[in-house]
Amino acid sequence: MLADRVRRVKPSPTLAMDAKAKEMKARGEDVVNFGVGEPDFDTPENIKEAAVKALRDGFTKYTPVGGILPLKDAIIEKFRADNGLEYSREEIIVSCGAKHSLYNIAQALFGPGDEVIIPSPYWVSYPAQVLLNDATPVFVKTFEDDSFMLRPEALEGAITDKTKALILNSPSNPTGLTYERKAIEAIAEVALRHGIYVISDEIYEKLLYDDAEHVSIASLGKEMKDKTVVVNGLSKSHAMTGWRIGYVGGPADVVKAMTKVQSQSTSNPTSIAQAAAVEALTGPQDFLQTMLTEFDKRRKYLVGELNSMPSLSCVMPNGAFYAFPNTSGVYGGKVRSSSELALYLLDEAKVALVPGDAFGDDDFIRISYATSIEDIKKAVERINQALGKIS
Ligand code: PMP
Ligand code: GLU
Repeated sequence: MLADRVRRVKPSPTLAMDAKAKEMKARGEDVVNFGVGEPDFDTPENIKEAAVKALRDGFTKYTPVGGILPLKDAIIEKFRADNGLEYSREEIIVSCGAKHSLYNIAQALFGPGDEVIIPSPYWVSYPAQVLLNDATPVFVKTFEDDSFMLRPEALEGAITDKTKALILNSPSNPTGLTYERKAIEAIAEVALRHGIYVISDEIYEKLLYDDAEHVSIASLGKEMKDKTVVVNGLSKSHAMTGWRIGYVGGPADVVKAMTKVQSQSTSNPTSIAQAAAVEALTGPQDFLQTMLTEFDKRRKYLVGELNSMPSLSCVMPNGAFYAFPNTSGVYGGKVRSSSELALYLLDEAKVALVPGDAFGDDDFIRISYATSIEDIKKAVERINQALGKIS
């Protein structure tokens, strides 16, 4: 008999949809994969070269659990330069992807009886990781006509004496929206007054459009920094999803606890991936602009097209690489929910995307536009036709 915790969660629906789309492609079906949040760009050459060099130099042994010193120092410099945050080496830990960083945080901070506030819609792994660590997720709904922002009154209303932490994600997966400084300040005020931790997932920090600004909640003052665990990683900013490098800057006691957990679970992240990560953070950064320019073109085209479809509406996202259209206008006849719609579009239009209910809101679907503009054009046409048949 399996452990009880396994029954509390489902496999990651984003990864499940990606696997399904890839399976169909392998069978020769012409599927457009809007499913997974993964840049379609290759990792830049200079980063690959750093890994090859590390391999050739025999850098193939265990490293310190929480990451090699040159990588910790590069992360410290990144936090200083990008976020105005000063951390020491004891306040940094490198893990096997930001998902693993988040899991270590959950292991270090959450336990039976703890409540963790998660604004919804949310990224799929937040509630699952809370549940796997015997704590209770508390969802606070946010609304499309309010740009899916968590408002201070709503946060305040969800806090009890059991609240341990808030998980904040800006720019957001799945909405693609970014918190403005004022909104972050208002959240910080409530969090500080109640003494709860903020886990700030900033993995999409570099993917901003129009005049969006990234503000790390930890940068709002020493008091807030002492209660914030900042999560970041290289998967999105440097197209390094497969390398599995994520990292955290946070209070020394939390980082120490995470390092202890990591020492008994995975040990260090892969040695050569760490060498590549040093190059990613300290080498040339022009790749980012190339990727952003392309994402921006796709974003404008895709959202424009979605809004021209009679039964859909989509807020213009200003971060990450997701569009989150409202699909409730489609529901009624053949299709009555986001899951049914995702299945219908996969069958009828050969377009893979993730239903909103996976993110806690059934009125939406998530489209990852980290795929070529040709594919986006093809998918848009097919979606339009398929929706025409049911509305
Ligand atoms: N946080 C968010 C919001 C994400 O979308 C992802 C995507 N995978 C992650 C964390 C984890 O990224 P990774 O484990 O690849 O670093
Ligand atoms: N974060 C990405 C997504 O939301 C990658 C898949 C995952 O790790 O869940 O699609």
